Amino acid sequence: MIEKERHVLVIFPHPDDEAFGVSGTIASYISQDTPLTYACLTLGEMGRNLGKPPFANRETLPMIRKEELKLAAKAMGINDLRMMGLRDKTLEFEDDIKMKNLVTDLIDELDPSLIITFYPGYAVHPDHEATARAVIRAVREIDSKKRPKLHCLAFANNTLEDLGAPDVINNIEKVKERKLDAMRAHISQTARILEMIEEGLKVDDPEALKWVTKESFYSYKWEQDKVKQLSGS
Ligand SMILES: [Zn+2]
Repeated sequence: MIEKERHVLVIFPHPDDEAFGVSGTIASYISQDTPLTYACLTLGEMGRNLGKPPFANRETLPMIRKEELKLAAKAMGINDLRMMGLRDKTLEFEDDIKMKNLVTDLIDELDPSLIITFYPGYAVHPDHEATARAVIRAVREIDSKKRPKLHCLAFANNTLEDLGAPDVINNIEKVKERKLDAMRAHISQTARILEMIEEGLKVDDPEALKWVTKESFYSYKWEQDKVKQLSGS
């Protein structure tokens, strides 16, 4: 059972970052009438995948991914989707204070009781890491008793070894169709994996089933906080 929240804020850098690991959780909160905002920092316009077979090109990809993101949001039931307009593959070079302030502004406006993002250090891609760092820096400035909870997605190879087992496991079976639709919405990026999952589901393959039964997160371990302090903050 997913805990009741006042407001859930989901922050990721790319359209489709939510698709495989979080869309079931998002749909679950929305099915409980929990207000939820998804802030997507870029349009993933530098993505390598152009569809399978290719149907996008460098010019059309941003528009296509924007439409895919809207479609995915609809599939999950999101009615507060924020496209934050930053540039794909550049977040690690953005000013750290600007990145942190962007998150602080969202927190000030929405007063979330839970934020979902990547786990810094275990998020693999530089844009993912930059996003995670900005969230940690923004939340760290809040008095520890008033901080929203942080549920973080981690998938680096050393995740289990370093962080142990995830402490937050959401059962998403009830919303699995919504999750599949969210994954299908991002078809320019997801076609390959989706084909594997859909074939697997036909024969109850456990590897495929795990995508539509559970989603796992780590509560951020403040006692092992390794995100660098910003000078002047
Ligand atoms: Zn991504």
